[in-house]
Amino acid sequence: MTDDATGRGAAERPPAIPFLRPAPPRLSDLVEHLRAIEDSGVFTNFGPVNTRLEAAMTERIFGGAGGCLTVGNATLGLMLAIRRAAGEGPPGRYALMPSFTFAATAQAAIWAGLTPLFCDIEPDTWLPSAASEEALLAEHGERIAVVVPYATFGNCLDLGRYARMARRHGVGIVVDAAASLGALDAEGRGFGAGFPHPVVFSMHATKTFATAEAGLIHCGDPATLAALRAMANFGFGAPRTATMPGLNAKLSEVGALLALARLEGFEHVVAHREKLADRYRRNLPDWEFQRLVGRRHAHQFVPVLLPHGGGRSRAEVLAALAREGIGAAHYFSPHLAEQPYFRGRCPAGGLAVTARVAGRILSLPLADAMTTEEVDRVCAALRAAAALRPAA
Ligand SMILES: *Cc1c(COP(=O)(O)O)cnc(C)c1O
Repeated sequence: MTDDATGRGAAERPPAIPFLRPAPPRLSDLVEHLRAIEDSGVFTNFGPVNTRLEAAMTERIFGGAGGCLTVGNATLGLMLAIRRAAGEGPPGRYALMPSFTFAATAQAAIWAGLTPLFCDIEPDTWLPSAASEEALLAEHGERIAVVVPYATFGNCLDLGRYARMARRHGVGIVVDAAASLGALDAEGRGFGAGFPHPVVFSMHATKTFATAEAGLIHCGDPATLAALRAMANFGFGAPRTATMPGLNAKLSEVGALLALARLEGFEHVVAHREKLADRYRRNLPDWEFQRLVGRRHAHQFVPVLLPHGGGRSRAEVLAALAREGIGAAHYFSPHLAEQPYFRGRCPAGGLAVTARVAGRILSLPLADAMTTEEVDRVCAALRAAAALRPAA
């Protein structure tokens, strides 16, 4: 008896390869530390575990530059940082950001009272397009309060360009580096190290630096970090007294414990994922991958463009992979300007490159526990699904 069109019996079917396999540190391995939190009686409010985490992240991820503030998740971090960077101003102001990013970034800008304004991306790095950003800055002038570049899929942005943009145009800058913990810039420093504007990272279960829910704001400017810390605590700039806009964005001590545990062995996690991502590239030499800038990348999954000429649609390719037990996705398609909530209310510049990339993007599986053999299996299935001949 066979159970599918391949004529293969269920018993012979190779194990499934899910798109992502979140593997945060096991709370059950941290019982002694959990007991210590219980004994301390301190469960949140920037407690001792959180203080240790912020110091450890500053030292080990950012080489001692600047400082760090934890938040409950990156979306809260973006909300706070965008709100502060925008300052006070008339209604109807914009947050300039790429349409090729995650909904959280645009949602955070809207919560901060701004309207997202979408720019295009570069055709090879998929980072925000410098020409598109400059054209929109020239067109909209002072209506743009904040620029929120996204370090696309953990790729490294040219941060010097954004520091100059802040000075030249008087705009706020907030970097969405949600997927970038583990990425090293061209000088080999943790991406964002010492940058004078807030750089916001996610430690969500699906990111390379996987916990459950957590986020981190890194900044080279202590005054900015202090203000954001007060904003994250109800805007209390004086004891129990709101002196600025705020909300509750604090990370619990248990959340901080998970992140501290993730830091152990993190170098190995990043290196393993990079090895797997390299293997994808070697196995698919004629496919179009993102051009990576910087020294090392934090691979959350492996994005690639579906080639022209295979004659299969993306939906057909994803369905064919699913029949082989292989999970895949298509981040970020639909891109933001295509999503119903943003489409009607957010203006955009030309988005030709975004449309081209988003229209063909596939996100391939990656996980801490994945093997190179599994990568080979995904690539073989992908070639077959796209109806392309194997590489010679
Ligand atoms: C994951 C992600 C976020 C949101 O991070 P959370 O910690 O889940 O809030 C924001 N922006 C981008 C680009 C992301 O990939």
